[in-house]
Amino acid sequence: MAAMSSFFLLIIGLFLVFTTTTTSFAELERFEEPAKGADGSLSFLVVGDWGRRGTYNQSQVSLQMGKIGEKLDLNFVISTGDNFYDNGLAGTNDPNFEESFTKVYTAKSLQKQWYSVLGNHDYRGDTEAQLDPILRKIDSRWLCLRSFILNAEIAEFFFIDTSPFVDSYFNTPEGHTYDWRGVTPRNNYIANLLKDVETALRESSAKWKIVVGHHAIRSAGHHGDTPELVKQLLPILQVVIN
Ligand SMILES: [Zn+2]
Repeated sequence: MAAMSSFFLLIIGLFLVFTTTTTSFAELERFEEPAKGADGSLSFLVVGDWGRRGTYNQSQVSLQMGKIGEKLDLNFVISTGDNFYDNGLAGTNDPNFEESFTKVYTAKSLQKQWYSVLGNHDYRGDTEAQLDPILRKIDSRWLCLRSFILNAEIAEFFFIDTSPFVDSYFNTPEGHTYDWRGVTPRNNYIANLLKDVETALRESSAKWKIVVGHHAIRSAGHHGDTPELVKQLLPILQVVIN
């Protein structure tokens, strides 16, 4: 009996060690995109603020993306979020997914992997729907995560979920409702994310390190700078670069 109990204790002990190690070494998920061609060059398009069921010139932009994509022979496409207006997806069976993505980006050159993050409008719907792998069964190009890393040899991309940083979405939502499941408690989420990004940037040996997110850190556009990112994210990028 004694031997049996210590056996069970050992099993429980191993389980505890295993679970604590996996949580304390949480890392950003990684994807690989081998560069094409002997020179190791890379071609990609970046688009954001797009899902309008083809309206607001979305189809026109898609047409031009298809043409330039043909010339560049793209490796992949990056989406910086606000993937589906006005309020993200209502669920994984929301027809907006096909109407704004599959049926709009039809050019042959755009039939590549799309790497996407979420924008603030995406958080106004069922956020987890966009992250659900089931969407890849509808359109295999789709890959959307909150934060992740893409290693493309000459360049490494660090995709960052920037919406949770922005105070006004929490303090003055102006009639909008946000789906913050998976984000709250917010301070922990941001602290863990910044730690993971800093570690990943430090460990990266890629020639180009490219950080992708929905909100501009600095911008001359009408939204201007994002002060929360200037304060919390920019110092990390500066330390890692210097
Ligand atoms: Zn936005």
